Amino acid sequence: MKKFMKTCYKCGTGVKVAKSVKEGITLDCLKCPKCGEEYFTSSELIKFDIKTGKRKMVRKFGTLGDSTVMRFPSDVIKDYKIKPGDYGIFEKKPEGILIKPIHAKDIGN
Ligand SMILES: [Zn+2]
Repeated sequence: MKKFMKTCYKCGTGVKVAKSVKEGITLDCLKCPKCGEEYFTSSELIKFDIKTGKRKMVRKFGTLGDSTVMRFPSDVIKDYKIKPGDYGIFEKKPEGILIKPIHAKDIGN
């Protein structure tokens, strides 16, 4: 890990590369040996958010029987007015997967 700072902002002591366990997730950090303050990079914090499920627009692929499933962020469901029974058309794009919602009521289902 790259040392992105040299001294603790709180007490001025030289920081050391360390590991920190937050909510069961191990993160790389810089730690002050004197006051114990820990400093994290933004990528470590994103990792923490993803692993704790705090990153709102990130979902993990899972399995349900033989299927691969993914839970949708509730914001997306609300914004696109998606209801149970609606359809999603998958389009393979170079940058990722696009899901076009089709409302069941619009196709008379
Ligand atoms: Zn300190």
